Amino acid sequence: MKIALLGYGRMGKTIERIAVERGHQIVLKVDIGNRDKVTDAQLREAEVAIDFSAPSVAVENYKWCFNNGVTVVSGTTGWLEQWQEVVEYCGQKGCGFFYASNFSVGVNLFFQLNAYLARLMGGFNDYKVYIEETHHIHKLDAPSGTAITLAQGILDHHPAYKSWELAHEIPLPEDVIPVTAKREGEVPGIHTVLYKSEVDQIQICHSAFSREGFAYGAVLAAEFMQGKKGILGMKDMLKI
Ligand code: NAD
Repeated sequence: MKIALLGYGRMGKTIERIAVERGHQIVLKVDIGNRDKVTDAQLREAEVAIDFSAPSVAVENYKWCFNNGVTVVSGTTGWLEQWQEVVEYCGQKGCGFFYASNFSVGVNLFFQLNAYLARLMGGFNDYKVYIEETHHIHKLDAPSGTAITLAQGILDHHPAYKSWELAHEIPLPEDVIPVTAKREGEVPGIHTVLYKSEVDQIQICHSAFSREGFAYGAVLAAEFMQGKKGILGMKDMLKI
């Protein structure tokens, strides 16, 4: 496939290596340094654009791609308040859009485990839920998109919770899920969901060893999107 990389930072470079290893061609690399100089015609050479840029520019990038009929695989986090706008724009232009807050296969299995555990714990109100995430110090958004997906998974399946909040101060109201975000060194990503009672705790944890798993998933998503239109995600690709 012919791929454009929007964002050529830590993730963009890892994706490039894996995409080339899988026989794809990188026809365009867009970064903060050349964004103003890239033309629509250059973008149109790509069949799919993989965006791992920054929260403040992601939506602008997606509209640019849709205006040029280019399918988008989005991994950038921190822009979801504009989700509806992006979905509608994609529909109007008849394009394809694949978003995942986390492209790792392991994390997506972890999301299923989280939903199962939330359903189970819904009947046991002695246990209070907490979400903790730790990432490298360069990460711009907090909490992580993955932590937000975990919180949403709990809200969908546990009747005692109505919203989540970034927990600067615990305790929060009883029906709010506290999410703690830590920034340390070069940690690729650790997510923990824990249910605590007076007498014990149950915890599930996913820990990424490197960025490889995210980058591999993003390339698989680009392959999956070939010839497809509409809004798709990891559940569609992994059939879970
Ligand atoms: P990074 O800072 O290393 O790279 C981001 C790059 O985007 C930079 O090189 C920057 O110059 C470039 N950029 C800035 N403005 C741009 C623009 N207008 N157009 C194109 N590029 C532009 O960050 P990273 O670690 O590669 O992460 C990028 C994003 O991906 C973050 O939002 C991060 O949270 C997210 N991420 C998602 C997953 C996932 O699985 N979904 C995994 C890892 C990281």
